[in-house]
Amino acid sequence: MKNRKDCSELDESLRETFERFDKEYFGGRLCGSGWTVTSEGDFAGFHGQTIDGKRQTFVRVYAQRIADELQATLIHEMAHAILPVEVGHGERWVAEMKRLKAAGAPTEN
Ligand SMILES: [Zn+2]
Repeated sequence: MKNRKDCSELDESLRETFERFDKEYFGGRLCGSGWTVTSEGDFAGFHGQTIDGKRQTFVRVYAQRIADELQATLIHEMAHAILPVEVGHGERWVAEMKRLKAAGAPTEN
């Protein structure tokens, strides 16, 4: 089958979505402070992971064929990226997800 996008195209659309979300929901602060996104690499997270030291969010594209699910994972990881790593899924992260949802971000799949 040849109807699946190749990896570089997927990464490109992932980057575009990351930059769009950053502008729309984070005031450009993530890109502005050096954060990037990738779908390549050997990461432990099943759907996604945020690596603070590398300032990189990882989204496992092939685990998520539905665009909405991918966007929700990206927003989830970006909410980690904008907060200190020790916050985890704590109160401040939950509050950030509420703020994003209220702003119209796709926080659920
Ligand atoms: Zn998480």
